[in-house]
Amino acid sequence: MPQCAFHPTAETNVRCVECDRPICPKDMVQTPVGYKCKECARQLPSARRSVKPKQLALAALASAAVGTGGAFLLAAIGFGYWFVLLGLGVVTGEAARRASDGHRSAAIAAVAGIAVAIGAYLSGLGIVSMAVATIAAVVYVLSNRW
Ligand SMILES: [Zn+2]
Ligand SMILES: [Zn+2]
Repeated sequence: MPQCAFHPTAETNVRCVECDRPICPKDMVQTPVGYKCKECARQLPSARRSVKPKQLALAALASAAVGTGGAFLLAAIGFGYWFVLLGLGVVTGEAARRASDGHRSAAIAAVAGIAVAIGAYLSGLGIVSMAVATIAAVVYVLSNRW
């Protein structure tokens, strides 16, 4: 019989469905797809972190404050150039990411993008500034994963 990958003294016929290492009953974790070793069972939740509604709400709030508010401020002081809006998009993306505990998902990107788009549109900065800021926010959130 093969030896347990975690306890060389224990023999077992069960293998982890993920990494195929032999595992004894002490290391087995039952999952919907079968028995997994404790290492593989642990990896799943962190690899598939999904955004909770509260985190999305916080991201929306931060995006509105920074993205929508920032666009209105830039329009008010007459500084709504497209390259400034590019920076505003990045800052909004960062604000949304921080507010949601570091998430970089499509939902957070959408929230940040929509916030700057609404701000740029309603404050009358023009379609080019609006597009630049929206793309900057979305690209910023979705890139640089770590
Ligand atoms: Zn495993
Ligand atoms: Zn074991």
